[in-house]
Amino acid sequence: MRLSFALAFPEIYEIAMSHLGIKVLYESLAGRPDVAAERVFCPWLDLMEIMEAEGETPWSLESGRPLGSFDVIGFSLQYELTYTNLLMMLKLAGVPARREERGPAHPLVIAGGPTMVNPEPLADILDLAVVGEAEEIIHPLMDLFIMAKQEAWPRERLYREAVKIEGVYAPALFQPVYQQGRLTEIKALAPEHPVVHRRIVPDMADYPPPQRPILPTVTPVHDRLGVELARGCTRGCRFCQAGFIYRPVRERPAGQVYQAALAGLAAGGLEELALLSLSTSDYSCIEPLAAALMDALEPRRISLSLPSLRMDSLSPELAAQIKRVRKTGFTLAPEAGSERLRGVINKNLSHEQILGTARAVYGMGWNLVKLYFMLGLPTETQEDVAAIGRLASLAASEAKATGRGRGKRPVVNASLGLFVPKPHTPFQWEGQIGLDQSRDRLALAKANLGDSRVKAKWNDAKTSIIEGVLSRGDRRLGAVLLRAVELGCRFDGWSEHLDYQAWLRALADNGLSLDDYLRPREQDEVLPWEHIDVGVSKAYLLAEREKALAGQSTADCRAGRCGDCGVCDHKLIKPRLCPDAELPAPPPAPGEGERLTWRFRLEKTGATRYLGHLEMMRLLERTLRAAGVELAYTQGFHPHALVKTAAALSLGVESLVEVLEVATIRAYDPDQLAARVNALLPPGLRLTDGRPGRPGEKLIDPPVAVYRITPAAPLDPERLDAFHKAEKWTMLRLSPKGQREIDLKAAIRQIELSGHGLLLATASAGGRPKPAEVLTSVFGLSPQAAAASRALKTEAREEEQA
Ligand code: SF4
Repeated sequence: MRLSFALAFPEIYEIAMSHLGIKVLYESLAGRPDVAAERVFCPWLDLMEIMEAEGETPWSLESGRPLGSFDVIGFSLQYELTYTNLLMMLKLAGVPARREERGPAHPLVIAGGPTMVNPEPLADILDLAVVGEAEEIIHPLMDLFIMAKQEAWPRERLYREAVKIEGVYAPALFQPVYQQGRLTEIKALAPEHPVVHRRIVPDMADYPPPQRPILPTVTPVHDRLGVELARGCTRGCRFCQAGFIYRPVRERPAGQVYQAALAGLAAGGLEELALLSLSTSDYSCIEPLAAALMDALEPRRISLSLPSLRMDSLSPELAAQIKRVRKTGFTLAPEAGSERLRGVINKNLSHEQILGTARAVYGMGWNLVKLYFMLGLPTETQEDVAAIGRLASLAASEAKATGRGRGKRPVVNASLGLFVPKPHTPFQWEGQIGLDQSRDRLALAKANLGDSRVKAKWNDAKTSIIEGVLSRGDRRLGAVLLRAVELGCRFDGWSEHLDYQAWLRALADNGLSLDDYLRPREQDEVLPWEHIDVGVSKAYLLAEREKALAGQSTADCRAGRCGDCGVCDHKLIKPRLCPDAELPAPPPAPGEGERLTWRFRLEKTGATRYLGHLEMMRLLERTLRAAGVELAYTQGFHPHALVKTAAALSLGVESLVEVLEVATIRAYDPDQLAARVNALLPPGLRLTDGRPGRPGEKLIDPPVAVYRITPAAPLDPERLDAFHKAEKWTMLRLSPKGQREIDLKAAIRQIELSGHGLLLATASAGGRPKPAEVLTSVFGLSPQAAAASRALKTEAREEEQA
């Protein structure tokens, strides 16, 4: 290993592990023996506080390496409101946030992801930013870092070499010039590189999707295998940044998607596949692909989800495929309530198309339609806002007409968000509405919801406003971000944690205000992202802006009519559609075999003691499938795998003696099965002592559990004496269901100090006290010390006869 690289994600595990980009990089870098790429995610607020108080630092999930000790920290930035988390991660890691304050002993700090099409708010922080698609850049960049490390290059030299790789931006090589508070010039200090061009993967077929998913331990938000169908969308919705910064459309061959999906599902034992792209139903081969995948997945009880469907390209055939497994809410995004405003944003859907799709969706069995709208779009009038409520109500009446959603449950969820003008779109010059206006418009939209079965959801305007500031922000925001962190801002994308007043103060402390960033921009003014070229020309954006104001539409270029946006050279970079849908016959279905049961001793030790029971069971089930074990399932509407333990172990308790029962439809050698599964389980979880189940054998948790406890604080022998002498020792257990008194004298079979620890045997009769409860009640340990004590279950046995 010649370089350590932290794949850093400034969000919590559950969100970071849902993100496809980090998995792509992880698998790509895992193939390099000279680079150790390890994941480091953001600690949640409580752990941040402890880390700050105790001088702890974020560490990598793979080896526990402290973040500050990596050669390079590479942040993946999906959303502007994670910038304060990035700064907090650096702060906790002991890495100075400002580039100028870092020396040769500090890691390089780099970032990539969609927000890097305007990297200026982080320009004082980052050494380098990757603009565009990382697949083509990551390896040349790693080679460069290795060389720079070996030859101890000064940073300045590294920057100058790095920017020779197309798509790499070094903020230190550009200097913004301000006059009277307005940006007037962005000076290139390396004149041979005056502009940074976005890196584009010409053909997605050259980069197959990752196929060896990391099994998550804690359940992620998107707990599924995601396979990217295509990149880019040329529908041309004028508010949509992704539609401009991922051009042109590049579809993967259907065979590659099919193969990667089946391989990834088999390797991860996952229960859901999601086909991902900006507009899934636009994928040329979607119908044959979805049908072939469903033929393979349905017998394996794996569901298929297709997020990001466009209603005007949703065919009945595709809807029928989706319906084979799921009937939860169906999402449609009209974005604007009136046809006029949809014309302005180039989302050219008629009312009839929207209502017709809702009708078809209800008709096929869905009970809920989710509609997405935006408030504050350019040229929006009161009439446009009122039309949102009316359209949602009309969609709800379609449910009635098709006999769906009887009763009082909502049939339409109308989600309302605030329009945020984004760089590199035709609306990059527009103003963004403020808090008061957004409140008025929301009230107007809600007042027009005539149908009681439309439920309106409002995304917090304050988060959108701060997002707007950072999206079109300039280099002056570096100081604002640092001040915001000082004032306590973290997790700003979580509306309940956004401290809006602190942001206003951070701006004011730097002589700035919201207005400086929400205001409309002059067409001839210098924009902070002017030196970043995503490929779409300024002339095209201006022409699109004109067309928007005139209500004129622009057609999708995927089918061949080029609108000359500037991205394609029409040789290497051009729209690429799925060439064919030749797909293999589905693999043989698992079939039905005689149900056989197997018993194992399950060890749960080390860090896995912090896995909740359900999380552990999900992990075990997936690992069994990933190891190729053909599990037996229950019958019925929601079949589930027959993988069970006798009882749920308390969170935080380790055990050597849990019993796991697994039912299969094939015969296995239990030792070989355990070895295959153990090779895939995380350290701490292990199956041993496998044997076939016995006829009529019940899965019963023996009544007495014996623990060896290593306390985190000294245990007072006099308190134990007092316990032994007492006739009754009452402990109060508080739970969400209420409180319960437990007599520990009746529930404890054995309790004695041994060496530096405690031997404890508790019985289920009498409420089975948890080890931590005994430490608190009998020995008076604080709840923190009790929770930090290690309890290892070493035996589970029957009651001894008197
Ligand atoms: S250059 Fe033409 S074909 Fe390429 S993305 Fe732009 S409009 Fe489409």
